[in-house]
Amino acid sequence: MPDFSSEITVKHIDSMGDDARIASAARVSTKGLDGDGGKVAGLVRALMREGHTSPFEHCVMTVSVEAPIFVAREWMRHRTQSYSEISARYTTLQPKFYRPNEDRPIVQTGKALDYHREEGTIRQVVVTEHRHKWTEEEAWKNYESMLSEGVANEVARNVLPVSVYTQFWATANLGNWFKFLTLRDAPNALFEIRQGAQQVDALIEELWPIAWRAFHDFNGKEEQ
Ligand SMILES: Cc1cc2nc3c(=O)[nH]c(=O)nc-3n(C[C@H](O)[C@H](O)[C@H](O)COP(=O)(O)OP(=O)(O)OC[C@H]3O[C@@H](n4cnc5c(N)ncnc54)[C@H](O)[C@@H]3O)c2cc1C
Repeated sequence: MPDFSSEITVKHIDSMGDDARIASAARVSTKGLDGDGGKVAGLVRALMREGHTSPFEHCVMTVSVEAPIFVAREWMRHRTQSYSEISARYTTLQPKFYRPNEDRPIVQTGKALDYHREEGTIRQVVVTEHRHKWTEEEAWKNYESMLSEGVANEVARNVLPVSVYTQFWATANLGNWFKFLTLRDAPNALFEIRQGAQQVDALIEELWPIAWRAFHDFNGKEEQ
């Protein structure tokens, strides 16, 4: 039987550069190649405030992501990230499907780009749970049945819904991670991609605390 999860998982794989690297990259403009050293915090904050973004592009982070396909589709619209994803042609997928938990509001009111989410009635919650379970179990049975008949992975996977989990690496420079966060850690972003974006945000806070603070101070977000 398939597994069900409501989690989006983002893990740090590797990164390059720190807050001092951002300041050093900026100093190339006034001091040439010997411009290393000097104070970091004030300069990094000024760069962020003034939208002088290139120095942030000299830092890079790679993360691994485990998320349902409907989240991966939105994530991969960000063309400035580089991706490597598990192949459903060369491998048999894991029997793992997304299912909204009780924290995930399931009703939408208002208009596109300005709608609100609401909890839903008990009936709506039960129908949502039941339809996910039924569809995912049936789909997995059909997938396995075709594989057991010798049908290729790349054909059998056609019957799986977008709630099946996929796995990928994403690499971007810090400037583009901030652009990603502006769009995806926002109230109007898809609930599930926001869960992933918040984990990216936490990794950036750990790796580039000064740049992270400046990003939040100058992007209209409240102090956290
Ligand atoms: C709330 C929300 C709703 C959305 N709804 C829809 C929808 O209904 N349908 C839909 O198709 N998409 C939708 N999107 C996706 C959206 O249109 C973008 O494709 C996605 O957010 C990637 O953003 P980006 O282009 O800024 O990112 P990236 O691709 O990472 O690009 C970063 C920046 O690089 C520059 N850039 C990159 N490539 C180009 C290029 N080819 N030409 C010019 N500049 C470029 C731009 O300045 C861009 O902002 C939605 C996104 C959000 C956040």
